[in-house]
Amino acid sequence: MNIFQHTIKNTVLAQGIGLHTGKDVTIAISPAPENSGISFHHKGHGVIVPANYKYISNTSFATTIGKSATAISTVEHLMAAFAGLSIDNAVVEIDGPEVPAMDGSAYPFVKLLHKAGLKAQSAPRNYLEVLDEITVSQGDKYISLCPFGDVPAGDAGLAISLTIDFDHAAVQRQSLSTHISSKEFETKICKARTFGFLHEVEALQKNGLARGGSLENAVVIGQEGVLNRDGLRFSDEFVRHKLLDMLGDLYLIGMPIIGRVTACKSGHALHKMLVEKLMHSPNAWRVKNFESISAPIFQDGHLAQQVWPVSRGARLAGRVVL
Ligand SMILES: [Zn+2]
Repeated sequence: MNIFQHTIKNTVLAQGIGLHTGKDVTIAISPAPENSGISFHHKGHGVIVPANYKYISNTSFATTIGKSATAISTVEHLMAAFAGLSIDNAVVEIDGPEVPAMDGSAYPFVKLLHKAGLKAQSAPRNYLEVLDEITVSQGDKYISLCPFGDVPAGDAGLAISLTIDFDHAAVQRQSLSTHISSKEFETKICKARTFGFLHEVEALQKNGLARGGSLENAVVIGQEGVLNRDGLRFSDEFVRHKLLDMLGDLYLIGMPIIGRVTACKSGHALHKMLVEKLMHSPNAWRVKNFESISAPIFQDGHLAQQVWPVSRGARLAGRVVL
């Protein structure tokens, strides 16, 4: 059995405000040919920015990609949705500077992509298989990426073990280890929302950030704890969201990774450092596909085995508040 590349069947639309810019933005996600990858097309500027680490232009509080004077910010939650659903090729048309925040998680994008319907293509999916350890660190923050280990090909994939540690009683130290598959992503990761501390919001806004942030698109933590009326979606929502961010940023490699990540207190800047070091260490990995194995790499998430609902034409997703 081959593991094929996937795109979506139909164009779908989402509209909302950017978390940092506060600007109203509409995105249209459309099918794309095999081997074309994910790319962002800025409508107003007529500029195409590939969703690739080479185009990362900023990693402060979000991942921004850009080319010449065009910047597209906060791509990580949408990229995590593409990674989590194993979508290789898609065009994201955008009419503003930032991907809409939606509810602060990747869940609205996951629902949107399911509405679009997933479509297998004829080219095999390429994976980046890690052969040697790559580590990056900055003070007490680090990420280590190692080979997955000796297991049958069908059992390999991406495993992430992540620890966060915040000096606040509502967050503190949280750890999560998971073997990423579509099912794991959809049930445990994609609904985790971005978060921020109330005392930092003012400083962020002075620097032009978090202008669109609200209790509708972020978990906000005050002195007494979480301010959102309905509380958290998971008791460890914070570490789950950080894992979501990592998944989205790592997908800027342009293909899924087969390997094991161990990380502590990592964020967008360190993700970028890891990806750059990895890509500049060609002996530490190889590109692999599975044209000849007998089992899918993600046993429970192999998209060719699943039937998704098909939407007729484009739909407006709007904001989803759970
Ligand atoms: Zn995030």
